[in-house]
Amino acid sequence: MKKALLIPLLCCLLLSGCSHRHEWQEATCTAPRTCATCQETEGDPLDHDWQEADCTTPRSCKRCGITEGEAPGHEFSAPNYQDAPVCARCGLEQGEALTADFVTHGILCTAESGVSYDYYTCAREDTTPVKGQVTFTENKDEPLPVNLENLEGYEWRYIHISLVFDDPVAVKKNVRWSVTGEDYYTIELHDESLHMVDGGSNGFTVNYHGRDYTECLQYYEYDNGHWDTNVYYVDYDEWFRIPVGYDGVVVGVRDCSVDWVDGAYIYDGINENAVFYRLQ
Ligand SMILES: [Zn+2]
Ligand SMILES: [Zn+2]
Ligand SMILES: [Zn+2]
Repeated sequence: MKKALLIPLLCCLLLSGCSHRHEWQEATCTAPRTCATCQETEGDPLDHDWQEADCTTPRSCKRCGITEGEAPGHEFSAPNYQDAPVCARCGLEQGEALTADFVTHGILCTAESGVSYDYYTCAREDTTPVKGQVTFTENKDEPLPVNLENLEGYEWRYIHISLVFDDPVAVKKNVRWSVTGEDYYTIELHDESLHMVDGGSNGFTVNYHGRDYTECLQYYEYDNGHWDTNVYYVDYDEWFRIPVGYDGVVVGVRDCSVDWVDGAYIYDGINENAVFYRLQ
């Protein structure tokens, strides 16, 4: 009988004492495990679990999402003729590469290797039109003349330029022709950097992936032109030393009836009769 009374009594004592059944709320970054009823704590706060900032997101806690500071933003490089601006940190590309001068000036440069194109220029004596043909032929296996040197980071390209004039006007009044070397991307840099180099070459500079290559060379041999049975032939062999992979060297012919002022750039000295070939 006594025992039966004791059990409910014990239960009463437990319930009314200082200890209750805690309602734990798990620890957070800034608060330890805490009882919601009595605020008793256990252990330490977890501290933030930081994810470092990237270009577009500030430093933030992976657990609670709190942020610190601001996103640093992208660090874009300057664009060049081959590359759009790129973020140095995250690699994002934004915007576009610079526009090639030939595009800006609307100069067509569409001739293909080994194909003959009509070439309209003029007589030597006056500006009577003379029609001929021009053919640009690239040959990667053409041997290099002995006087030309290789240079680390550069490669040689060869092109043959053939002019043929079978127009009767050429027989009567002779013919003026003009073969020109240009740069597809930077006409002015090309012209302004052009200089004579010992050994009969021209030196010039190109900008490739934002870097100036100042050791470019152009070397050519040509036969001065010759007649053969009322047909006039001119043959050029040209070698270019340019950065490996560069695709901006342009050769072409222009109509000599267009006045050429000393110091002019190609876009001021051509009409629709010019034919341009871009070395690939
Ligand atoms: Zn509690
Ligand atoms: Zn946190
Ligand atoms: Zn970035």
